[in-house]
Amino acid sequence: MPYVFDFDHAHRRPPMDMKDLLGGKGANLAEMTSVLRLPVPPGFTISTDACRAYMAGGWPGRLDTEVARARARLERSMGKVVGDPADPLLVSVRSGAKFSMPGMMDTVLNLGLNDRSVAGLAAQTSDERFAYDSYRRFVAMYGRIVLDLPGEEFEALFEAAKEKAGTDSDAMVPTELLVGLVDAYKVLVERETGRPFPQDPDAQLRGAIEAVFRSWNGARARAYREREHIAHDLGTAVNVQAMVFGNRDERSGTGVGFTRDPATGAKGAYGDFLVNAQGEDVVAGIRNTDPLSALETRFPDVYRQLIAIFDRLERHYRDMCDTEFTIEQGKLWMLQTRVGKRTGRAALRMAVEMTKERAIRLSRAEAVGRITEDHLESVLHPQFAPGGDRRVLTTGLGASPGAAVGRAYFSADDAAAAASRGEAVILVRSETSPDDVHGMLAAQGILTARGGLVSHAAVVARGWGKPAVVGAESLRLADRSVSVGGVTVAEGDWLSIDGTDGTVVLGQVPLRPAEPSEEFLTILSWADAIRRGHLGVRANADTGADAANARRLGAEGIGLCRTEHMFLAEDRLPIVRRMILADTPEEEKAALEELRVAQRADFVEILEAMDGLPVTVRLLDPPLHEFLPSTHELAIKEATVGLDEEERRLYDAARSWQEANPMLGIRGVRLGVLKPGLYGMQVSALIEAATHRVLEGGRPVIEVMIPLTVSGPELALARGWVEEAMRAELEATGRPHRRSIEVSIGTMIETPRAALRAADLAEYAEFFSFGTNDLTQMTFGFSRDDVEGRMMSTYLEEGLLARNPFDVVDAEGVGELVRIGVERVRPDLKIGVCGEHGGDPESIALFYSAGLDYVSCSPFRVPVARLAAAQAVLAAAAPPGRAARPAARRAATRRPPVKKAAAKEAAKARGRQAAPKKALKKAAKAAPKTTARTRATAKRARRP
Ligand code: PEP
Ligand code: MG
Repeated sequence: MPYVFDFDHAHRRPPMDMKDLLGGKGANLAEMTSVLRLPVPPGFTISTDACRAYMAGGWPGRLDTEVARARARLERSMGKVVGDPADPLLVSVRSGAKFSMPGMMDTVLNLGLNDRSVAGLAAQTSDERFAYDSYRRFVAMYGRIVLDLPGEEFEALFEAAKEKAGTDSDAMVPTELLVGLVDAYKVLVERETGRPFPQDPDAQLRGAIEAVFRSWNGARARAYREREHIAHDLGTAVNVQAMVFGNRDERSGTGVGFTRDPATGAKGAYGDFLVNAQGEDVVAGIRNTDPLSALETRFPDVYRQLIAIFDRLERHYRDMCDTEFTIEQGKLWMLQTRVGKRTGRAALRMAVEMTKERAIRLSRAEAVGRITEDHLESVLHPQFAPGGDRRVLTTGLGASPGAAVGRAYFSADDAAAAASRGEAVILVRSETSPDDVHGMLAAQGILTARGGLVSHAAVVARGWGKPAVVGAESLRLADRSVSVGGVTVAEGDWLSIDGTDGTVVLGQVPLRPAEPSEEFLTILSWADAIRRGHLGVRANADTGADAANARRLGAEGIGLCRTEHMFLAEDRLPIVRRMILADTPEEEKAALEELRVAQRADFVEILEAMDGLPVTVRLLDPPLHEFLPSTHELAIKEATVGLDEEERRLYDAARSWQEANPMLGIRGVRLGVLKPGLYGMQVSALIEAATHRVLEGGRPVIEVMIPLTVSGPELALARGWVEEAMRAELEATGRPHRRSIEVSIGTMIETPRAALRAADLAEYAEFFSFGTNDLTQMTFGFSRDDVEGRMMSTYLEEGLLARNPFDVVDAEGVGELVRIGVERVRPDLKIGVCGEHGGDPESIALFYSAGLDYVSCSPFRVPVARLAAAQAVLAAAAPPGRAARPAARRAATRRPPVKKAAAKEAAKARGRQAAPKKALKKAAKAAPKTTARTRATAKRARRP
């Protein structure tokens, strides 16, 4: 396989699908050239294979020859030669990885200029100023990117030249000063590197290609990939392309255009444009741009042609595209396109609207597939609360929606340092560059004085769903302050920004949660239709209010109610302590009775909020000393002012319950074994609450969950207490309503042993719920509280862990235990997950492929989980090779691996040319004929 491909190479597959090999930019340039036949300056792509070979063993031997040949072909097609003293061809050398990494890697423009060819360029264009301006740009760029020299030094020389010329416009610097600048730049290069600036075009080209390869592993690029979870071993492609010039004259220009508005999703072309400028000028936000609509009056023919191209691109890619284009002396050139980044609001609107557009005809599955976790999160961003006095400092462009409040910091380092001290930060910059990424990442919001909606700050913030206001031109930045009119904001002062309308407010504006749009609800309803019958979504909630909120967000029940949270309330803690301190069984019973009454009220609220839906109530889990005061503090008090009688008893109790390793100590069911009355009390409170709900006309569905069991006998014992308490309670109060209360009993799987011995536990359970928080701790032997603070970042930086396993489930270890646990139990056992991973999309895909019935997560993650569950179902319905197939359990159980509707949607998602009938047949064949045994029959069948 060659390393180098011309843009018009006849690939066997559509080049736009070959991003692995050609990188995103190269693939789309090839698509525009060879398929769409758009006006693209010719060029060639050096593949990611070449970059990987370079990273593994240095410059690949055959690359020189292949590049030389491709260059010769390019020269022939352009009728010009790189470096020709009479009429030189200039080229750009740009990175282009499989996944877009805006501004994270390097680019060199105007390559091929040297002391001789600059004169040829001047003669050919009859424009000496243009030739020397291009040369000075090239030397500075090459110096910075390839030779690693500080950009500010070139910038300082240019500023000095502008001052000398008495202008602050780049375009007004006269030719003689540009000639002098080129010399000054070359002196700078020689002084800093000990070598003259390379004049040989071959050496220039190789240097630039190598620099782009190297930039793949630059700190900025690595940091970006960490954030975006892009693998570090993909490598980048390099695109070498004939230069066209937007800075030739007033009939030239350059711009960035979107086929729709990337901030709102509104239909119609959108973008920024600059007359007489090169592309970097627009993206860097150094000059303030005109809106794309200004093209219509200035270059009406070009505008019409561009709009027709936008239309073509949208129909071809079936999505919103962004483009870079250049007009050279009245002729339009397309320099790049790709499916454009967008805000969450725009993504939702476009996805829904494109299902109704004839030219695009997106299927619902495709629409669901286009929404990401970040999109949903960003529309759930808070907004400024209405009302109240506000001191609006200034306004800029609302570049990334949502409101943010924080203290102002003026450098990326200061912002990152403040954030690591726990401060909320607004990063205020004149403009941002890739060097600011760490500060941007740490900030709540970003504010810049310069730049348009496609400036670096705007693009990166939008990509991350972080509020940003850009181009607030009235801001005057100093070292550690900013002033507007007479007002100065110093480092650490509070600012509030609204990235939706561009307002910047002095002080802290109260925020309110966002109101999701209609499209948000539509997409989630489509997601629900896809996942229904395959993967449920519940919430972890401990109060009636949380449960109601979770239900509003679409939760289909509670997967984990941590009852200990009810015990920690201020009015409950003294009762719990009385129970722990009890000297006699009577005292203990009295305390338990008080707790029962309190807990019953909590359960009523939760069951009411989730009426008709399952509520999994976990019996007490944490070690008892968590309810007692700290021994350390009491020891100090004892040694200083002394302890009163009550404190002395608490101190004794706290010491006696103190454990060397509480995570592995007396907690969960082990506590129940030592204090059997505890679980009985909780169950009777629960049944009493359920009875109450039945009397009120409700339909309580209860799942009693025993935590931390590791063996069959342990669960059998605990089950006995639960059944005993249920019997007693129903006999006492609820007998007539017995049949109206659905109760099942199950356990959490939180230890490796429990997963391995799942079959033993299943003997005594109607359901399992994987507690992947503890399962992760116990599988790795990581105490979460200790390792996350002290060790995790080092492990991630050093590559000892690819991800924090508490964020994304560890597929090879913990994921394997989940699979083993699932495979070892009977198919009708209901199985869910309630660790925090239940809200993480990648983990959700794993849980679905392992055969779980539902995931449960915090209420605010429920929308993301609904979307991710649908995407997991669609991915599993895709043909082999596209995604993991569901586990054997799915094929063996009541649930079809692929519902017809989902298979149909997935087939549509694969493209309209796919044969849906075939996919449907396949899905129907794979679907088992058996139907579910009802839970009641299953229960009867397995009761011990
Ligand atoms: C778990 O361990 O995953 C779990 C849900 O329980 P907790 O986080 O309460 O320990
Ligand atoms: Mg746990």
